[in-house]
Amino acid sequence: MIEVGKKYHTVDGQEAQIFADTGIGAFKILGAVKKDNGWEAYTWRTNGKYLLDKDSSLDLKLPEQLKACPFCGNNEAPRNVADNIMGKSAGGYFVVCSAKESEGGGCGGMSGWGKTERLATTNWNRRA
Ligand SMILES: [Zn+2]
Repeated sequence: MIEVGKKYHTVDGQEAQIFADTGIGAFKILGAVKKDNGWEAYTWRTNGKYLLDKDSSLDLKLPEQLKACPFCGNNEAPRNVADNIMGKSAGGYFVVCSAKESEGGGCGGMSGWGKTERLATTNWNRRA
C-alpha cells in the first residue's frame, strides 16, 4: 500500500515522493523522483512497480507487508500496534489479527514482540 504524501526511495536509492493515487489505469500512483536538476514526474503501479511486467531500478522500495493470518487466513486484519501494558508504552510493537469487526474482524492471533515495527512484522511473517 503506497501512501500519498509520503516519501519513498527507488530500489536504486533515489528519493521519491507521492502526490496522488489517480484511481485510473494501470499506473495510478503519481509522484516524482529527485534528480540532480530537480523533481521529475513519474507514475507507478499500486504495487510500486514502474514497469508493467518486469523489475526496474525505478521501482519503489516498500516496507515489508504483513502476510495473511496463519490462524484464520484473514488478509486485512493483521496490523502492527505499539506494545502497551496497562496504558503504558513498553517500547515495542507486536502484530495482532484484530478481532474487532471495524478493523477487519480477525481472530486475535498475535506475533512475538519486536523492538521496532519492522521487527514485529518480521516476527509475524516468519510464522505466517
Ligand atoms: Zn487471524
